[in-house]
This record gives sequence, C-alpha cells and structure tokens, in this order.
Amino acid sequence: MFQKEKKMKAIFLDRDGVINVDTSYIKSPDELVLYPFAAYAIKQLNEAGYIVVVVTNQSVIARNICTEKTLELIHEKLEAELKKEEAYVNKIYYCPHHPEGNGSNKNNPYIKECECRKPKAGMLFQAKVEFNIDFSESFMVGDSECDIQAGITAGVKTIGVKTGNAVSGKTKPDYIATDLLEAVKVILNSK
Ligand SMILES: [Mg+2]
Ligand SMILES: [Zn+2]
Repeated sequence: MFQKEKKMKAIFLDRDGVINVDTSYIKSPDELVLYPFAAYAIKQLNEAGYIVVVVTNQSVIARNICTEKTLELIHEKLEAELKKEEAYVNKIYYCPHHPEGNGSNKNNPYIKECECRKPKAGMLFQAKVEFNIDFSESFMVGDSECDIQAGITAGVKTIGVKTGNAVSGKTKPDYIATDLLEAVKVILNSK
C-alpha cells in the first residue's frame, strides 16, 4: 500500500551572523569561527526532530573572492565543529550568485539574477521538495532583513537575532531573539 510520506518540520538558518561570526566575505576555513553556543543550539533542534537546513548567500563565489572548492572546505569545517558537540545540519544550501559584476569578475558565470539569492526564497523551496517540509511548522532564523523577507515569502515563522547584522530594516520578524540559542528556546516553547 502506498503511504503518504510524513511531512517534516524544519528550521532554516542563515549562516554568517547566526551560526558563525560575520567577518564579512569569509574566504577560508580559518576565517570561520562559530559562536560558542551554536553547536549546542543546533543539537537541541536535532533532538527535537527538526530538519536543520542552512540557507546562505555566498556571493564570494560570483565576486571571485572564494572558489566553490574552498567554500566546500569552509562548510566541512562548519560541520566538523558541530560534530564535536554532536550536532549536525541536514544540508547547506548556498547561493553563489550576484546580480552585478564589478570589474575583474564581470565574466564570472555566477553573475546573474537568480531565484536563490535571499530575499528570494528559492533555497527554502528547494529544501521543501527535497525534505518534504511543512512550512507552516517551520521557522527561518536570520540576522539580516533579507533572511526575514525570504522566510515571509516562503510562509514560515521568522526569528531575527541580535548577533551579526541584528535585523536592521523595515521588515519585522515574528520574534526577536538575542542569539541563536535564545531563538531555539522560542522555537521549542512554541509547540
Ligand atoms: Mg547573516
Ligand atoms: Zn542564486
């Protein structure tokens, strides 16, 4: 008998300024420094049965600041750091694009308008298909207005954190939290 697949609830996390310190255009594994609470916060989401998905704009690729190979190494470090504290993310989606070339990178194939760069919600929709996610049971956590806008477009609940860019901008999230750890408290108390 065909059984309808169970829908999953998910937490979408921005990367820079949420999981790790945003030092602007991180281009090597050394530059990636996790917040001390990040792994513990994510572990709680793992244990609560959430799919944890990172959705990050990485225009460093389009800007010729970093190669995709190096970005992979940066993400390997991120996952290794999480693993040390028994936490994991189910997948990292990144947007390598940027709409404008500026000088030497103008021939970069990733210079284009795309559907994945936040504030668009392309990465969230991709994850929705891949993990059978129920957006109505899901949250987006971000430190920038574009994260909140992407979450609103997808129809998930939104939490702005005060780390990184501290959600300055006109778009108001459903909740404000000091950091990812407090955001996780909000999520776990929302049931
Ligand atoms: Mg950010
Ligand atoms: Zn893109």
